[in-house]
Amino acid sequence: MEYNTAEIKKITMDNPIVEIDGDEMTRVLWALVKEQLLLPFVDLKTEYYDLSLENRDATDDQVTHDAAHAILKHKVGVKCATITSNNARKAEYNLKHLHPSPNATIRAILDGTVFRKPIIVQSIQPTVSTWKKPIVIARHAYGDVYKNAELSIPGPGKVELVYTGKDGTEQRIVVADMKGPGVVQGMHNLDDSIASFARACFLYALEEKIDMWFATKDTISKIYDGRFKELFQEIFEKEFKDLFEKAGITYFYTLIDDAVARVVKSEGGFLWACKNYDGDVMSDMIASASGSLAMMTSVLVSPNGAFEYEAAHGTVQQHYYRWKRGEKTSTNPVALIFAWSGALAKRANLDGNAELMQFAQKLEMATLRTIEEGDMTGDLAKLANPAPLQVLDSWEFVQAIQKRLKTL
Ligand code: NAP
Ligand code: MG
Repeated sequence: MEYNTAEIKKITMDNPIVEIDGDEMTRVLWALVKEQLLLPFVDLKTEYYDLSLENRDATDDQVTHDAAHAILKHKVGVKCATITSNNARKAEYNLKHLHPSPNATIRAILDGTVFRKPIIVQSIQPTVSTWKKPIVIARHAYGDVYKNAELSIPGPGKVELVYTGKDGTEQRIVVADMKGPGVVQGMHNLDDSIASFARACFLYALEEKIDMWFATKDTISKIYDGRFKELFQEIFEKEFKDLFEKAGITYFYTLIDDAVARVVKSEGGFLWACKNYDGDVMSDMIASASGSLAMMTSVLVSPNGAFEYEAAHGTVQQHYYRWKRGEKTSTNPVALIFAWSGALAKRANLDGNAELMQFAQKLEMATLRTIEEGDMTGDLAKLANPAPLQVLDSWEFVQAIQKRLKTL
């Protein structure tokens, strides 16, 4: 049965979602998704933060900090993609100065683990033919190379790492006796953050009833990566071993290179816990081998009980320039739609709002059905089997989803 949006009784919300707007093509799609797929159905309650580069510059990035603290307060946030400024952007947007990556700022405040899962549709086969089920990546969101200290070394000399304890005790180790100019880097992580990363992963695997893999390079990095391996093992033995056995799932540790070799021969269907950098690289590999960067969900789970949903891709800059010239682009909004459905479902779950939960599920169902019935954007059309009859632009695609959503 089809009916008018005007006749639909809108679903109400008890508590707000923290809505974080962003930049370029994803900002354009953000407004489109809200207008066509959310506002006609839900009496949307959000606390809005504008993280466009212009507003971050105008507020000296205060708005990013405010948004992150709002997520800690309200427990659920949804974020659009944002520009990480560099010198080219500084000139383009006439910025006062360069700003830190908003994602890095938000992750540093929330701490935690980012879970990324490919969105599977029947008509899009993964490039890796053995994959039957999605591989979920859990990316540690704190420390390592993302919070490093680096130096460019002008010439020969000694490089040392020095730790000075609160009581003045000192530990010192030679990094290198530099024979000539070069580069050096120091990085760190914290036991607390590693432990909460481990717990977040074990809990996720239990909740989804899937096996869990973890990999580092502890044969080379015996102390640093060794600490990750040790804490995971300890926490598993003490807190999760029995629960895993009862659930019929396993925890498996191996070296990162062995893990990569096994992943491409696996059937999928497990959680792959990755250190921060490994997770950055491997999530793009998994997303692109599963279909498209725009077919990946991403949620940051904070140990403070807060959740931030986002798209894993960027602002799709080149599409934005084409849109500004008046073109209708065929940019894929699926990851943005799933960021919203994820946030709405979490809000519904925390507030005990069954109607809202049902809407979030219908929104995902309508989106997947649209693609499976052959209506899709250009990135997917290239991969689809059978090939679609026509490639839709983003506006037509969102309309096609709305049409199906009204019938569910
Ligand atoms: P990107 O926005 O992810 O786009 C890279 C390419 O991937 C696009 O040119 C496009 O390929 C394809 N693509 C990505 N998302 C797509 C979608 N939804 N639909 C269709 N195609 C899609 O990365 P970028 O262009 O390197 O970065 C642009 C800006 O995004 C940068 O300023 C960066 O700082 C920012 N960024 C933000 C985040 C975030 O906020 N989470 C993450 C990464 C990057 P074709 O051109 O071949 O169509
Ligand atoms: Mg990346």
